[in-house]
Amino acid sequence: MIYDAIIIGAGIGGLTAAALLARDGWRVALLEGHIEPGGCASSYRRKRPDGTSYVFDVGATLFGGFQPGGAHSWVARRLGLRFPVVPLDPAMQVWLPDRVVTRYGDPAAWRAERARAFPAQSAAAERFWQNQEAIADIVWRFAARHPPMPPETPGDLLGLIPAMRPELLGLLPHIERTVGHELRRYRLTDPALRAFIDAQLLISAQVPADACAWLFGSAALDLARQGVFYAEGGAWSIARTLADALIRDGGELRYRAWVAHILVEGGRAVGVRLADGEELRARQIIAGQTVWDVARLLGATAPRRLLRLAQATPEAWGAFTLYLGVDATAIPAGMPEHHQVLLRYGEPMGEGNTAFISLHPAHDTSRAPAGQRAVTISTHTRVGPWWQARAAGRAAYLERKARWAEALLDAAERALPGLRGHICYRQEGSPVSFARYTRRAEGMVGGLGQRPAQSGFFSLGMRAAGVPGLWLVGDSTFPGQSSAAVTQGAIRLYLALR
Ligand SMILES: Cc1cc2nc3c(=O)[nH]c(=O)nc-3n(C[C@H](O)[C@H](O)[C@H](O)COP(=O)(O)OP(=O)(O)OC[C@H]3O[C@@H](n4cnc5c(N)ncnc54)[C@H](O)[C@@H]3O)c2cc1C
Repeated sequence: MIYDAIIIGAGIGGLTAAALLARDGWRVALLEGHIEPGGCASSYRRKRPDGTSYVFDVGATLFGGFQPGGAHSWVARRLGLRFPVVPLDPAMQVWLPDRVVTRYGDPAAWRAERARAFPAQSAAAERFWQNQEAIADIVWRFAARHPPMPPETPGDLLGLIPAMRPELLGLLPHIERTVGHELRRYRLTDPALRAFIDAQLLISAQVPADACAWLFGSAALDLARQGVFYAEGGAWSIARTLADALIRDGGELRYRAWVAHILVEGGRAVGVRLADGEELRARQIIAGQTVWDVARLLGATAPRRLLRLAQATPEAWGAFTLYLGVDATAIPAGMPEHHQVLLRYGEPMGEGNTAFISLHPAHDTSRAPAGQRAVTISTHTRVGPWWQARAAGRAAYLERKARWAEALLDAAERALPGLRGHICYRQEGSPVSFARYTRRAEGMVGGLGQRPAQSGFFSLGMRAAGVPGLWLVGDSTFPGQSSAAVTQGAIRLYLALR
């Protein structure tokens, strides 16, 4: 049989596209190599000898896009489902070397907090934040109209017209600017404020202010104001909800189905070959992989343009993660669930100098044995040295993992003093683990850095593979990383295909 669409990978992007198409009656096959959906936004269960277990989130822990008008809400309405999420406010606390900043979602509370936390240059800083919020509002309104971004065809250019509003004209001068440019425009030199903004952009745009596209950055800095959410039962609840909808609507979801090759005939993508040799065919092929992995899956049929694009795309970050079962007494009552730590001013972000800590909310008893909490700590890291350590042998790799685990625990102890003494279970994940788990090239995760040359109009589009019949979703493509962003991309693809 020939499917209407084959989707490679049940990451949030692939799942969302598959579920939306199945809802419209398409014959859809979603092929996932693993035994759970969700990819970087999934979870895993670690059983203990006494029969109790932890549920750890693999990567993503904090979710946007479930507020009215958000991308996940749009999908929920379309699919007639309810995601099991609850709002969190504050969104997180940011632990700088000399102060703690609470990111409230409530606009008035955040306004008061930023003035309190950054008293130096507070008047100029307030003008910067108000401008950031005003620009972000325009960006969010534009995104909610699902414009064909980035335009790749004359049809897309025409399709942009209904999404246009006079307010967008005011954004034109901002297209090539960076957040750093804006900070200079407001003469903001306060090192604490600059470090805070760099740290926040690292987790939402993958690059610091001086490299981050301002239009993307204005929205990235707005995450708390838009609303963040916790997925009850762990991140995988979001993916499982989408998978259930896909199956309800007649879609086929195959696990342990690794796609080894995308089949191209007469210049058009016509199907896939699985690792066991089985071939499946479809009118449309949707790949939820990175640009490097799509090039790999095309093999000799990859267009030269795609190979050049893959080569020209700057390396993305990897992640080093710690998954901990922790005695609940280590966590003060009422402490927010998410924390970002910056250990030292004046040093590059990532590589252990920053860490992101997520505690599962105490009310969700499904995540850890009684009296314990499931904790994830992660830092951005360059992937190359991890592969070099692995090539140097098991001892070198294990030594590196142990050293990094200690660095992350040092960072976590800034927010949770004495944490080390309360650890009941511990496991590490490196780019090597992410490569094995998600098959992403070299374990690069979290999407591409949102530099002006790779953001907005200049980001990769769903036709970037350059092979008719082959479409891209996921965090390599517009609008970028996060469950909400890849959902936005999947909606856009669905609207183009239906
Ligand atoms: C440590 C970390 C923390 C993060 N924190 C957050 C956060 O708090 N909030 C947030 O919103 N986002 C966060 N993100 C980013 C977010 O998880 C990702 O941007 C998003 O989930 C990516 O979705 P995707 O659709 O691109 O697919 P991916 O998650 O990359 O999934 C791709 C899927 O395809 C499958 N696959 C790959 N190759 C094949 C193949 N050949 N055949 C079959 N199947 C295949 C994989 O098994 C996987 O399931 C984080 C990411 C990481 C790594």
